[in-house]
Amino acid sequence: AARLKMRILELNRQAARFFHHNLTTPAGATGLRYFRERGLSDDTIKRFGLGYSLEGWSSLCDHLKGQGFTERELLEARVAAQGKSGKGCYDLFRGRAMFPIIDLRGNVIGFGGRVIGEGGPKYLNSPDTPVFKKSRNLFALNRAKSSKLDGLILAEGYMDVIALHQAGFDNAVATLGTSLTAEQTQLIAKYCNEVTIAYDSDGAGQNATRRAINLFADVGVKIRVLKMEGAKDPDEYIKKFGATRFKLLLENCNNAIEFEISKLRAKYDIETADGKVNFLNEFSKLMAGIRNPVERDVYVKKVSGELAVSPEAVLQLIGTNVKRKV
Ligand code: ATP
Ligand code: MN
Ligand code: MN
Ligand code: MN
Repeated sequence: AARLKMRILELNRQAARFFHHNLTTPAGATGLRYFRERGLSDDTIKRFGLGYSLEGWSSLCDHLKGQGFTERELLEARVAAQGKSGKGCYDLFRGRAMFPIIDLRGNVIGFGGRVIGEGGPKYLNSPDTPVFKKSRNLFALNRAKSSKLDGLILAEGYMDVIALHQAGFDNAVATLGTSLTAEQTQLIAKYCNEVTIAYDSDGAGQNATRRAINLFADVGVKIRVLKMEGAKDPDEYIKKFGATRFKLLLENCNNAIEFEISKLRAKYDIETADGKVNFLNEFSKLMAGIRNPVERDVYVKKVSGELAVSPEAVLQLIGTNVKRKV
């Protein structure tokens, strides 16, 4: 098994080299054009070892066989799939922009491939293999771990992370096409005690944010939540508004409580009396969960001021909720 793992790692390294090399050939020009159109510099493309998987069915398989890898190794590494008839195999990634996934030791452990143009799925990731466990790795942690910046930024996708690194935020990481796991938060906890969650601003991203907040609470990592307006993800934000504006976002992040309050705000129309009452009810429940009285006071003062209600009334409401909880 140890030997197979070594072979898969070597195979993956050669596959990554092949994909990367394709960018410089006429058949791979599509890939290079794609990355450039998305605003990546040649230096970034090189540093992340980005590449292109050729159209057709067997360019990678043929190349790797030529280097002495067996069909079984190709299948075990999951860069190839078995042909329908049971004999022969074909390339799993075809005509895609390729993102090698590199672990903390610098090994290529898998790939993400994004479709170029029509067709789906948009992102195809290597399935788990003897060397690749999606739930235990993070994209770009190998780079982010030596960043001089404080904490980590957790984004949704490869392109977000790469755009962030290119803009100087080289402490960005992402999960690998799956939602955040407890293993990943434990791994992150080894490297830092504060994470800025920079997921997409859509509903899915916001739900994932709430999940992440809870998972990080379990491992004692402090979180901040980026509030992004006018763009759907960090990649798009930086492209539209620039790195300086993104830095301002980072400096003005919400903490977990502020994130919850802003979600409540969006849920209720506080211009109406009913909306106000319902908002304050939920707000009080949220406050009842905060142990530190000073922290609680800060939010109560702020919110009661904004809603033009007396802080005493809000505190009373919190009191009822605290009692209900016990
Ligand atoms: P792009 O910027 O490349 O157009 P996006 O921002 O629209 O992509 P999202 O849909 O937000 O991409 O997805 C973000 C990340 O989620 C991707 O980088 C990928 O890791 C993962 N992902 C998205 N779609 C899939 C999928 N169909 N299967 C697996 N992972 C996916
Ligand atoms: Mn998304
Ligand atoms: Mn995007
Ligand atoms: Mn996105």
